[in-house]
This record gives sequence, C-alpha cells and structure tokens, in this order.
Amino acid sequence: MSARERLYLFDTTLRDGAQTTGVDFSLEDKRVVAGLLDRLGIDYVEGGYPGANPLDTEFFAEKRTEHAKFTAFGMTKRAGRSAANDPGLAGLLEAQADAICFVAKASEYQVRVALETTPEDNLEGIRDSVAAALARGREVIVDCEHFFDGYKENAAYALACATAAFVAGARWVVLCDTNGGTLPHEVERIVTDVARHVPGDRLGIHAHDDCGCAVANSLAAIEAGARHVQGTLNGLGERCGNANLVTLIGTLKLKNGYGERFQTGISDDALGTLTQASRALDELLNRAPGRHAPFVGVSAFATKAGIHASAVLKDPRTYEHVEPERVGNARKLLVSDQGGRSNILAEVRRAGIALDKDDPRIGRVLDEIKRKEAEGYAFESADASFYLLVKRVLGEVPSFFDVERFKVSVERRHNALGQLVTVAEAIVKVKVGDEVLISAAEGNGPVNALDLALRKDLGKYQDLIGDLELVDYKVRIYQGGSDAVTRVLIESGDKSGARWTTIGVSPNIIDASFQALSDSINYKLLRSGAKP
Ligand SMILES: [Zn+2]
Repeated sequence: MSARERLYLFDTTLRDGAQTTGVDFSLEDKRVVAGLLDRLGIDYVEGGYPGANPLDTEFFAEKRTEHAKFTAFGMTKRAGRSAANDPGLAGLLEAQADAICFVAKASEYQVRVALETTPEDNLEGIRDSVAAALARGREVIVDCEHFFDGYKENAAYALACATAAFVAGARWVVLCDTNGGTLPHEVERIVTDVARHVPGDRLGIHAHDDCGCAVANSLAAIEAGARHVQGTLNGLGERCGNANLVTLIGTLKLKNGYGERFQTGISDDALGTLTQASRALDELLNRAPGRHAPFVGVSAFATKAGIHASAVLKDPRTYEHVEPERVGNARKLLVSDQGGRSNILAEVRRAGIALDKDDPRIGRVLDEIKRKEAEGYAFESADASFYLLVKRVLGEVPSFFDVERFKVSVERRHNALGQLVTVAEAIVKVKVGDEVLISAAEGNGPVNALDLALRKDLGKYQDLIGDLELVDYKVRIYQGGSDAVTRVLIESGDKSGARWTTIGVSPNIIDASFQALSDSINYKLLRSGAKP
C-alpha cells in the first residue's frame, strides 16, 4: 500500500461553534467537549478566545487535551502598536496552548471598512503576530478571514495576506469562506491558484454552510491541495453553521478513494464512536439530534418497510452507501438482526459489563431497550440508566429501597412580609428493609424539593449517598406515539469526581424526574457496593 498523505482535522466547536444561536458552553461543558474531541482523534481542538472573556481565560489556565493540539484563538496585533505592547496578543501568548490560531482579514475591502486601517498595516500585523507566537514556542495557524470574497475583489491582496502568513512561518494558512457564499467550483479554482504561492500541505480550509456547501467546499479545497480542514461537531456555528466535521470524518474515512489517499488522526475504532460523539454533544446542549444527519442521524440508515426494505433484507448494500456499524450507527429495520445484537453487546461491554457474545440474555437486554425506546427513553447519554437496565435484566440490582408514595405541592402565596412567593414542598415515604421513613423538604422548585426529601433519610444507606449531588438537569418534550411525553436527564456526581447520567420518561414531568433521581441513587448505591 502506498504511503497515504496526512490530512489534519481542526475542530472549532468551542470557538466558532459557540456562536450558534442558543448554545452557551459552561466551563464544564467545554472540558467535556474537549475530551470528546481528543478521544475521537481530532488533531487540533480550538478551545476559545482567551483574554477576550473570563470563561475562556480560565479554560486556558491549563491544557485540556492529551493528544490533540490545544489551540487558542485570537486576533493579530492591532495597527499602531508593537506586538510586545498589545494586551490582546499578550493574553493570547499567556494561554496554556500548544498552538495559536490568529484571525487576520484577507480582504482589502474589509481591512479598509471594518478594520479602518491600511492594507500594509494589516500585513505587518500578520507578520509580527506570527513571529511573536513562534518566539513563544507556539505552533501558528493563520485564519485568513473573508479570503474567498477578498480574492474575488482583489486577488493580489488576498494572496499577499496568505503569503505573508506563510513566509512569517505559520504552519497553516487557512482560507476562510467567512460569509459562506462561495460555491465548490469557485473554491477549487481559487485554492488551486493559492497553492501556486503557498504549498498545499500548508493550506487549510474553513467553510461556512450558508449555501449548504460547507462540506462540499471543504472537499473541493482538499481536491485542490489543502491538507487542513476546519469544522465543528454537528456543524454548529452561527447562521447556517460551519462545515460539519462529523460528515467530513465519515466521508474522509469511508468514501470513494479518500480513505486510501489520506490518513487522518481518526482510527477505525474511533470512527465506530462517531454516532455516540455526535449525540453526546447534542445531549450536552439539550438539542434534539438531527434525525437526518449524514452517517449519524437516527434515520441515516432507516429504511421504511416496502420494496426498499425487502431489498435491504436480502443485501443491505442495495440501499446503503456505507455500513452503519462503521460509524457506530445502526440499521433501523431488521429488528432482530445480528447488527442489533452486536451493537448492544458493544454497548454493554463499553459500560464495563462482561457478557459472552452467545449469552442468550443479550436478546433480553435488546428487547428491554426496544421496549423502553418505544416509550421515549434514549440511552445514548444516560450511561447510568443503561448500566442499571442491563444489570436489572441480569438480576444483579438488589432492591435497596422502595418509595411507597410521594407528594409534591407548589403553592404561590403572599408571605408574612406581603411578598408574592412560590414555595415547593415534597413528602416522601420510603421503605428501607423493614424500616419506614418519612421525609419532607422544601425546595426552590418541585423537583428540587423531591430530590431533597428523597435523599434526606435513606436509613442505613445515608452515609453512602452523603456526597451525591445533582450537577445538571435537562428536560425535553418528546413526541412519543400520539402523546407528548417528557424526557428528563439528570447528571449526578460525587466527591470522587465520578459523573453519571440517568433518564426518566413520563407524560408527567415530576414523575419523569423522580425516575431519573431514583436511578441516580440506585446507581450510586450499586457502585458503592451497598448491601440490601
Ligand atoms: Zn468561521
């Protein structure tokens, strides 16, 4: 096999993706996403804009990736200042980053109108900033903003910006279709021209999806020689989003000739977790996963009963362009097929439960999951509830406690000071062994009150759940069958740093929350080795 060319993947979910309407990453979210990208095998993880906002500065107080190059984003130095005298640049150089990605305008029009500076000052900003970052031992990437529009207006100046970055020593000169209006044939033509000045193995592409062409534009740039591709998980990004890295990964690994021509940092094993990674991000952001997302959508390999389905039954290749298992997705149709069994077995093993592949109980686990999914459960990111489900089928979850009844009330009234207040109270009656315990609590909402009452007194288990705390609570209304049901996801944690997520589903939000709370406590007790 001939040597394959290396193609580098650069993720900007935590920077450009954070511009998505309705997306707001917490520090903890950023940590989780960086870990997810790192495990996937992305080469560069852009974490944000240190110095520009306190959260990103804190995020860059330490390196957040093990394998990927942790990359800080920021502007080139301002005109009229020396690099040493620019506080923005200084903040960027302080960040605990392996690489720095500078954004520099590559359009003469943008330089004059938006920056209100001269074309020459802009070029000097690029050269000096690259030099300053190199002097601090950082790898340097320069995002040439508005490159394609700039090239169409004044090709010589756009090329001068790209060349300035290259000559100054930037590892990558990235051509950005910032407004997302460029089409694939234009990208191919323009990148081909740029590659006469800056070698392709130093060129990158950053595409936006305003024409639905971000992935196509990225592929066009690769065809023209670029070897660095920027994008975001699930195509997050402002307006119509950035190039979807999930789609690009599936394509570059599996489609006609790419896998043979190019090597990426994504191993075949990591490719098998692509669906999981995509959905984990959606769950984190409390966004419904795109059902029709290429490769990873629930419907990506769903064939409706009929002539297609009968053909798929004979041979899946009749209506599938790749095998769903390779990206960790599953064929929807063949209910009791081997694919379903092997997927479940892989999930069970991922949860740390040893089961032989011929164990007849796998079929029962599969049946139970299907039954629950039909009710609206989704176990992709409810790891602890999935663990409990399997362990329950295996008969390995003792009955630690039994909630005989609970009552939650919410009252809106005037308090003694005449202020209008809303008070939530919960009363829980629990049986632990032969002991009956009744606890009551007030909370800042019905779920909070229920949680506090439930965990107030669990008798002999109280010590084991003393450090349990709720980290996150998410609610989604889900259309299951003919009625809407509520899906609640609760993330819990304890002092050991362990984190786990549980799920509850019910037409009633309190009941769904109760199921998730109850699963969380059961999981904690099971993991702590509690004896009934
Ligand atoms: Zn962008």
